[in-house]
Amino acid sequence: MPRPMYRTRSWRRVIRRVPGGDIIVHYEKGRPKKARCAICGRELRGVPASRPYELSKLAKTEKRPERPYGGVICAKCLARGIREAIRPPLVS
Ligand SMILES: [Zn+2]
Repeated sequence: MPRPMYRTRSWRRVIRRVPGGDIIVHYEKGRPKKARCAICGRELRGVPASRPYELSKLAKTEKRPERPYGGVICAKCLARGIREAIRPPLVS
């Protein structure tokens, strides 16, 4: 019987074969949700969805795109925002 804290479904069960040949169950927390654009809500590309201790192993450049607002808004919304900042849309 697993420890009481592992009996809840908030822990993902992962079956692993260990070097001795035994099959054991590892308990892992689930994956976090993917990052989304702050304007349109689309999933952001180039932003890993991992637990903080896994993200801490990555370099800063591996955590979000290296451009203004990278990891906050998507490329489409950024392109539109820059365009509208330079040439505001005509309001009728
Ligand atoms: Zn967007």
